[in-house]
Formats: sequence, C-alpha cells, structure tokens
Amino acid sequence: MSPTADVVVVGAGALGAACAYFAARRGLRVHVVERGQVASGTSSAGEGNLLVSDKEAGPELGLALYSRDVFRGELAEFGPSWEFEAKGGLVVVATEAGAEELAGLTTRQRASGIEVSNLDSRQLRDYEPHLSPALRAGAFYRQDAQVQPMLMTAQLLRLARDLCAVVQTNTAVTGVLRTGDQVTGVQTSAGPISAGAVINAAGPWAGAVAELAGVSLPILPRRGFVLVTEPLPLTIQHKVYAGEYVANVLSSDEGLQTSPVVESTASGTVLIGSSRERVGFDRTVSLPVLAQLAANALTLFPMLASVKVMRSYLGFRPYCPDHLPVIGHDPRAPGLWHASGHEGAGIGLSVGTAKLITQALTGEPTDLDLFPFRPDRFATRHDQRRSA
Ligand SMILES: Cc1cc2nc3c(=O)[nH]c(=O)nc-3n(C[C@H](O)[C@H](O)[C@H](O)COP(=O)(O)OP(=O)(O)OC[C@H]3O[C@@H](n4cnc5c(N)ncnc54)[C@H](O)[C@@H]3O)c2cc1C
Repeated sequence: MSPTADVVVVGAGALGAACAYFAARRGLRVHVVERGQVASGTSSAGEGNLLVSDKEAGPELGLALYSRDVFRGELAEFGPSWEFEAKGGLVVVATEAGAEELAGLTTRQRASGIEVSNLDSRQLRDYEPHLSPALRAGAFYRQDAQVQPMLMTAQLLRLARDLCAVVQTNTAVTGVLRTGDQVTGVQTSAGPISAGAVINAAGPWAGAVAELAGVSLPILPRRGFVLVTEPLPLTIQHKVYAGEYVANVLSSDEGLQTSPVVESTASGTVLIGSSRERVGFDRTVSLPVLAQLAANALTLFPMLASVKVMRSYLGFRPYCPDHLPVIGHDPRAPGLWHASGHEGAGIGLSVGTAKLITQALTGEPTDLDLFPFRPDRFATRHDQRRSA
C-alpha cells in the first residue's frame, strides 16, 4: 500500500521544514520528501539573517515583520537550539549622497513599523569600534536578528517529527499525481504518495516541480558566494552592511553585483558577503568574485586585512522577477500549494510563510493578505490556454 498523508511537502530546506512543522502542529499528517539531505539546498548556503532593514515598505516587509513576531513569540523557546541572536543590524554609508538616500529609506521604513535610529559617523563607532573612519553615517535596526540556518531547518523538522511527520530523504519527487484537475499526491523515486495537498517548497528548483504539475513558475537561481574567516574573539557585534546592498537586492540585472556585508557567528567565524548574479546553477568557484568580497569587506573593517579566510561557499537564491515570494494555493492545479521564491530572505521569512500557508490550507482566515504573493500572478498565455 502506498503511503497517504494530508500534506506532502516537496523539499527539506528552511521553507519545507517550517511548513512541515506548522502543518503537523495543526494536526495534519505530513510527509516531507527530499531528494538529498536535510538542508542540502540553499538553506545551507546563506548567512541566516532575519532582516527587516533591507526591505522597502510593502508586502515583503509586512511578511518580514510578521515572521519576526513568530520567531520572537511562539517559537522563542526554541531560539537557543538554532542560535537565535537579536543582534541588530547596522547599515553604513561613505558618501553624502548615500547618507541622503539612507535617510529617505529610514523615513519610509519607520512609517511601516520599523524601529530605526539614524547615526552620524561618531555614533557609528559607538556601535562598532573597528569600523573604517571613512564612513560618514548609518542607521541601526534593532529588530534585525540572526539564526544558524541549517540548525533551524533541522530543528523544525525534528519538532515536526515529534508531531508524527514523516521525513523521507534521498527520494526525489518525479511527478505530480492528478485525478482530473485535482492534485492527489506525488510520484517519487521510491513510489507514489497520496495526499490531499502538495506544498512545493523546492527553493530554486520550484519551477521544475511546478512544471511536473503542468504549471509554470518563473523562479530562477541567483548565485551568491560567502567567505568564512578563521574564528576571532568577538570584534564585530552586529550585522553590518553598506547602504548600496539594498539596491543590489532589488536589482533585476543578470550581471554580477557585490556589496560589503559582514557579521560574526556564534562560533567566532566572520561571514563576508555578498554577491548576486544569474548564471544558472553554475557551481564553479569564481576567484575574482571572492577577491571582490574580501576587498569590499576591508572598506568597512580595515582590521580584517590581517585575518585569514578559512573557506568559501556558494548557493542559489530562489529569485522571482518581481522580488516577491510565491505563497499560497495554485488555482491552475487545485491541491497544489507553493512556498518558494523567497530569494535572499527565505530563512527570515520561513516561519511566517509556513504559519500563513497552514492557515490557508486549513481554511482559516490568514493573518496577512496572501494576494501579493499569489502563484498565478505570472500566468503565461500557455497556462491560460491550458486552463481554458
Ligand atoms: C549566499 C546566500 C546568502 C543568503 N543569506 C540569507 C540570509 O542572511 N537570510 C535569509 O533569510 N536568507 C538568506 N539567503 C536565502 C536563503 O538561503 C533562501 O531563501 C532559503 O534557504 C530558501 O529555502 P528553501 O527551503 O526555499 O530552498 P532550499 O533550501 O533550496 O530547499 C529546497 C529543497 O528542495 C529539494 N528539492 C528540489 N527538487 C526536489 C525534488 N524534485 N524532489 C525532492 N526534493 C527536491 C532540494 O534538494 C532542497 O533541499 C541566502 C542565500 C544565499 C545563496
């Protein structure tokens, strides 16, 4: 007999793990199918920041604030198990023009519920004594925090398993089962699984999973590298990044963009980012990009010049052309749900997304309006012909 569940979750990254936990907590029978290992996709390739600071006013910021409340509220007791640290974020600028832009951004953000203090160059060094004296101004965001993303993913799955969820690794979803229009489960490399709902949480591969159900999702990989230094005594207290990072995040250019992003981890290593480029799933290590990241970091913290880099890693952010995630039911394939396309913010947005999708799945009113994130907002003529 093939297994039966209320919900099959495709992918055991941060989004799949969070969806599994919230659905299991709501009493649903959950079956997670992962073709690799837990957190073997993008969720093991990021920095784990839970940021509100890098978001313009709008639906993504609303989701970030909501998700932050979930982390700090009902999930607070688990925080130590995934190294939750409410460290705050510091955005810095080196020019007068940059200072003006940052002042405009903070004004808009403040009106949307972000707590932010504008700082002059002297105040900056009260927050981070090792910052370059060339920096002119900045802003401190008290609500920014950090987790260890692999631990968070693994712990959420452990909590889901405690609630009887099944987590099946080394098993690929190879098809989506349908009876008429209705999605009724998945075909996997280990056989079929029947389910009333399928949640596509396949990160940058979510477009391929959607295609198995005959619908299109324009999610593409956006590559990023991170440098990891040797462990240091704690010298950098906050997440620190340059103001131009916000523009890079929002850019739709395929070409390389870099901007300095620096922070310490609980183990003492310093993580240095960030880069963004759309080069498909190319895993070739790019020494010029790594050199650029190192040079950028020195513009914030000149003292890093004497620190050794231990290793680097890379990953693929699940990028959507309008920079919003895809969350909710897909009317083109009834029974199919999506929790993907969170680009460079999927760790921070994971638990809020999962709570909302579980509310929608169980027919409850959702705490936030999911309309801006609806999966069929990109519907192509191909989709329209198919559903006609
Ligand atoms: C350099 C870098 C820095 C980042 N920094 C941050 C940060 O500081 N804060 C933040 O919030 N976000 C950050 N991100 C983004 C964040 O990592 C992602 O948004 C998040 O990990 C996406 O999680 P996911 O679960 O959607 O995808 P993934 O973690 O990729 O999980 C998807 C899973 O689906 C599986 N899968 C795919 N196809 C199938 C199939 N057919 N059958 C079964 N399984 C399948 C994959 O193997 C994978 O494990 C960063 C990303 C990068 C690359």
